[in-house]
Amino acid sequence: MSAQTFPAQQQTPPGLTGEMRPRPDHGEDSYVGASRLEGRRALITGGDSGIGRAVAIAFAREGADVAIVYLPDEQPDADETCRLVEDAGRRCVLVPADLTVEDEARGAVRTAVDGLGGLDVLVNNAGFQMARRESVADITSEDLDRTFKTNLYALFWVTQSALEHLKDGSSIVNCSSIQAYQPSEPLLDYASTKAAINNVTVNLAAELAERGIRVNAVAPGPIWTPLQPATQPPEKVEKFGSDTPLGRAGQPAEVAHAFVFLASEQTASYVSGTVLGVTGGKPVF
Ligand code: NAD
Ligand code: MG
Repeated sequence: MSAQTFPAQQQTPPGLTGEMRPRPDHGEDSYVGASRLEGRRALITGGDSGIGRAVAIAFAREGADVAIVYLPDEQPDADETCRLVEDAGRRCVLVPADLTVEDEARGAVRTAVDGLGGLDVLVNNAGFQMARRESVADITSEDLDRTFKTNLYALFWVTQSALEHLKDGSSIVNCSSIQAYQPSEPLLDYASTKAAINNVTVNLAAELAERGIRVNAVAPGPIWTPLQPATQPPEKVEKFGSDTPLGRAGQPAEVAHAFVFLASEQTASYVSGTVLGVTGGKPVF
């Protein structure tokens, strides 16, 4: 099999779907639901694009109403995800907010819960990375703030606020990464947040078990989303995903099934504190 390549391209963060070549596959034409999340109410951070959009489409087709949090600059992507959720006959609540600001993160959960009339599933999917080209010396405090606040602080704030509403039978799914297991040098700070997310996932699962709330994570490998052209140099984008055993990048649609599996009581009632890899063959243990 010849290695897949992408056209060299670059965006500024957070990046938009409409500028990507080729356009990612979020399961628009392929995802078929089976009522695995019927009547559930889900909050998906970063649900405007990429993996979050694919999860929003899948959840809606499984019968869930969905709220998505995104940055105000991403309104065009959020509008498109909303249209896809509504096309599935479900409600979509749009919540623009900067999750690196505590008040906005907590306010976003309140807005989502008000709009949905409650909450059953939380997907902590928002994330930020920036490939630093040289060494650890190049990482500024500003870089650390953005990466750690988006990937970790926000996860704590959103989870704390959501737990005021989640009840027995609810579930939390965090977004980890292959970077937690096989860190790349240019993603030093980002990779460390994903290892921390794995640790939080198993620990929180133990704490919340007595409340009947399951906590798990999905660890994607290289997935074709706006995050990549927005944060990797163009020459890396060209070969993105070709170093996996399957020899290609994955599409957001191929990751969404894992989130549905972990979120649903039908399929994962005895699954908590685990990390499910969707990596094109890279090891997650
Ligand atoms: P994406 O850019 O489509 O999604 C990331 C989203 O995070 C953005 O759409 C944005 O809405 C949100 N976000 C970022 N900063 C925010 C902030 N300050 N406030 C509010 N929202 C903010 O890219 P994606 O690849 O789908 O990323 C989703 C998750 O998947 C991230 O946690 C990422 O780390 C993880 N992941 C991605 C890959 C990959 O190869 N694409 C691999 C492993 C893990
Ligand atoms: Mg986006």
